[in-house]
Amino acid sequence: MRKLAADQIAPHAAAVDDEERFPVEAWQALREAELPGLPYDEELGGSGGDLLSQVIAVEEVAAACASSALVLLVNWAGTSTVVSHGSDDLRAEVVPGVASGEAGAAWCMTEPTVGSDLSGIKTVARQDGSDWVLTGQKRFISNAPWADWYAVLARTGEQDFGVFMVHRDDPGVSFGPHEKKMGMRGSPTADVVLEDTRIPARRVVDDPKQGYRYINAELNVSRALIAAQALGIARGAFDQALAYTAEREQFGQSLSRFQMVRGMVADMAVRIESARALLYDAVALIEVGDPRARSRVSMAKLLCSDNAMSVTTDALQLHGGYGFTREYPVERMMRDVKITQIYEGTNQIQRLVIAKDAYARQVRS
Ligand SMILES: Cc1cc2nc3c(=O)[nH]c(=O)nc-3n(C[C@H](O)[C@H](O)[C@H](O)COP(=O)(O)OP(=O)(O)OC[C@H]3O[C@@H](n4cnc5c(N)ncnc54)[C@H](O)[C@@H]3O)c2cc1C
Repeated sequence: MRKLAADQIAPHAAAVDDEERFPVEAWQALREAELPGLPYDEELGGSGGDLLSQVIAVEEVAAACASSALVLLVNWAGTSTVVSHGSDDLRAEVVPGVASGEAGAAWCMTEPTVGSDLSGIKTVARQDGSDWVLTGQKRFISNAPWADWYAVLARTGEQDFGVFMVHRDDPGVSFGPHEKKMGMRGSPTADVVLEDTRIPARRVVDDPKQGYRYINAELNVSRALIAAQALGIARGAFDQALAYTAEREQFGQSLSRFQMVRGMVADMAVRIESARALLYDAVALIEVGDPRARSRVSMAKLLCSDNAMSVTTDALQLHGGYGFTREYPVERMMRDVKITQIYEGTNQIQRLVIAKDAYARQVRS
């Protein structure tokens, strides 16, 4: 993964960011290495990789190009509810194309007025004969409009939600303009608009009243992947800082010889390794279905993204004025990493999850 990312992804990362374009070269390289199929079973066209292998893959891609890592992991998130709860027919319809990289996937929860509090979702799905008809607007959807499949969380009753697999060619599907973002500029982001979008019943993920529960269950995995993405960006920035400080000289010697620089480098290393250790711990709990996984992965997402913000800021600082220019990748990394503190549940929301679990455990003990 490291070699693939260094040879085939990193060389294009600056252009992808500058031109705000889809990372075509990276996607091609990832497809050739059969990475899009990593998490899926072999009978669905995948290679059956466990969560740890997905986390490692995402870290390595993100160290070279965070946008490319986002495209990859959002494909996996977009198909996760189908894999876990979809019928055999729906799995066969959606997953093999995504596993081969021929088709793309996205997941759609956020709306113009709904972000952290998903219970306010306004997109509705109503049953009409054997079909379902969806109307609503989803905001900030990664991989839109590039993706073919959209896992849409929509209201089916007062307190009920379902997950519906909408295809980009379905009637009434349209997309908003490309969001102009601070970072992750190679990852497409747009609104997904559904106007009386009619889909057949087979595209509902199992029980149309349990969608919220399905999505919630998948958040453990998707948060681990976002944590891995943040970790990868931090490691990429750290590598850049090491190389730069080893080469640049001031006051007649290499920057790397100054104690204050060494202190910063040591702190960055500790932030990266402690974040990775917590992430791997969360992954181990997720893999065995341990109930502590929910809180632990929130801790990992929080620590990986907050530490990565700090590491990228320090990496830029160690580049001096050059770090502030686009000649070096650290300014891109610092811009890219900010969103990891926001999406997949903001870090305030992660803190709420962690604290809720801590109090619940205290009551039980
Ligand atoms: C580049 C990008 C890609 C994205 N990709 C996707 C995607 O693929 N699919 C998707 O569905 N969404 C996606 N999102 C949306 C993202 O998940 C949301 O932006 C995020 O969940 C926060 O929601 P919000 O923006 O509405 O902020 P709000 O919920 O309005 O929050 C605003 C601020 O208030 C704080 N806040 C809110 N509630 C509380 C509380 N109870 N206690 C303390 N503080 C609180 C938040 O932490 C935040 O700081 C993406 C966003 C971006 C920018």
